[in-house]
Amino acid sequence: MIPPNFDYVAPTTVEDAVAALAGAGEDAKVIAGGQSLMPVLRLRLSAPTVLIDLGRIEGLRGVRDDGDALVIGAMTTYYGLLGNPLISKHALLLADATRTVADPQIRHRGTLGGNVAHADPAGDLAAPVLALEATMTVAGPSGTRTVPASEFFVDLFTTALQSDEILTEIRIPKHTDWAAHYEKLHRVAQAWSIVAVAATVDVDQGTIRQARIALTNVAPVPVRARSVEEALIGQPAREDVIRAAAEHAAEGIDPMSDGNADADYRSHLSKVLTRRAVATAAGV
Ligand SMILES: Cc1cc2nc3c(=O)[nH]c(=O)nc-3n(C[C@H](O)[C@H](O)[C@H](O)COP(=O)(O)OP(=O)(O)OC[C@H]3O[C@@H](n4cnc5c(N)ncnc54)[C@H](O)[C@@H]3O)c2cc1C
Repeated sequence: MIPPNFDYVAPTTVEDAVAALAGAGEDAKVIAGGQSLMPVLRLRLSAPTVLIDLGRIEGLRGVRDDGDALVIGAMTTYYGLLGNPLISKHALLLADATRTVADPQIRHRGTLGGNVAHADPAGDLAAPVLALEATMTVAGPSGTRTVPASEFFVDLFTTALQSDEILTEIRIPKHTDWAAHYEKLHRVAQAWSIVAVAATVDVDQGTIRQARIALTNVAPVPVRARSVEEALIGQPAREDVIRAAAEHAAEGIDPMSDGNADADYRSHLSKVLTRRAVATAAGV
């Protein structure tokens, strides 16, 4: 299908984009890589009257070292993340998950900001961003504000972004040289997660010093598996220890049932994929 008519603007600064969004009212939408929005428009599930393209705002692209954190521009593409040594050094989990997203064409167009702003529960980058304790920077008519990832994902396809706000940066505290793995179950290659687990661990001389784990697509929003983390911290990086800790993965979650998996299967997958994700990350 062909999308309904819309006006198109392509500002070159965040300030102009925010002004365009405020001026156009609730019927405007920003477009980043377009890899989720264009299908939505073509299916006529959304009919904005104005599209504000962020693609010409150079300041929204790239990764910079900001001392104890990396700051990633919202318009940084998946390929931009994958090719960046700062990401592999300080936020390996994000790179590992990004590698699993869709196909090469989509990875050239899709953006980190678009992925998390879209807030698809099956999207693969929300859980790593949550696990890595990122903070989102948001620009609106009254200036900028920051939102921790733990408060950013509000519900199915819903974030803390207001309709007149733009996500500009994702700030990720450095997890330097932490091992990481994103374990994703999907039915066919290049598809979204049925369930996935993002795990990153700091292992020192065979002991798990720190662990961060989050689950994809077991709830409307990504879920942090804190009881698994607590069961791992201070323990030897051994298969039996990881297996026992992973049994906590389904605690406190109330997974949904859909055509891909029912709730019981999702609970089961949470444990199995957590065990695999942590074991692979820890190299056992
Ligand atoms: C065939 C196919 C397979 C896919 N497989 C996967 C997969 O395996 N895993 C996965 O995670 N994703 C998958 N995707 C989705 C893809 O990753 C999208 O790129 C992503 O969901 C959205 O990023 P985008 O930059 O394309 O955003 P867009 O499509 O441009 O925008 C998505 C939404 O976010 C809003 N938005 C975008 N940027 C901002 C911003 N800076 N501030 C405020 N709002 C913003 C837009 O208004 C829109 O509502 C797939 C898509 C397709 C078409």
